[in-house]
Amino acid sequence: MKTSSAKAKGRRACQEFQQLILRWFPDLSERDVRVTASGSTGEDLQLSQAASKAFPYAVEVKNQERLNIWQSLLQTNQHSRKLGLEPLLAFRRNRSDLYVALRAEHFLALVGVVDTALSGQKSSERSSPDRSQEDLKGRFIYDANLSNEFAAVCEIFSDGYKLIRINELYWSYYGESAREELVYHELGHCVLDRDHSEELTIPYAYSYAIPNSIMYPYAFGNSFYYLVFRDHYVEELMHPGKRLGN
Ligand SMILES: [Zn+2]
Repeated sequence: MKTSSAKAKGRRACQEFQQLILRWFPDLSERDVRVTASGSTGEDLQLSQAASKAFPYAVEVKNQERLNIWQSLLQTNQHSRKLGLEPLLAFRRNRSDLYVALRAEHFLALVGVVDTALSGQKSSERSSPDRSQEDLKGRFIYDANLSNEFAAVCEIFSDGYKLIRINELYWSYYGESAREELVYHELGHCVLDRDHSEELTIPYAYSYAIPNSIMYPYAFGNSFYYLVFRDHYVEELMHPGKRLGN
């Protein structure tokens, strides 16, 4: 095959993957996910800052009949180290589907994240601290009058009784993970006597800082990284100050 038509073929696969990303992340535009020609190293997708927050991968795309998978992974990994993002190799050949190759460890973490996100009961079994269950009966209320400045508050009465008030409006549009983060945060105040922590941390293979603790003063439970690092956040709640990755 001539080089120019091989390049065109590579570009088509890149556009295909670009369109897939845009379909799943409708807030992004073609300007956020750009197809770039990078000479002999194959085609890349270049992500804007917004795009790499939503889709934190270093993407290499191949459209070849006989793919040298190891050589391609080597390129993907070089690319990944440069960008500080998880490596992702997308590949196809004529008349095939488009596939991706990821590190197995990362892939299983993703499957685990999806499973946890879809099954609220399972995740609470895994992480709800036993010692607090007795204290919690009857101590949550939905509050339609809570100021919209707050998604929830932990109210402490003069006799020491503690009540978690949850803003009905926020609750109604929060997804499962945002609800979980909100409740864990308030339980942190009410049951574990924790204060806010504004500490930020940059996880391995990330290019931006994220909260180190669920006690961060602003809700972030609907973020991708809350799902990815959920185990850390639950762990840190019980062990204040524990750093991500330590
Ligand atoms: Zn708080």
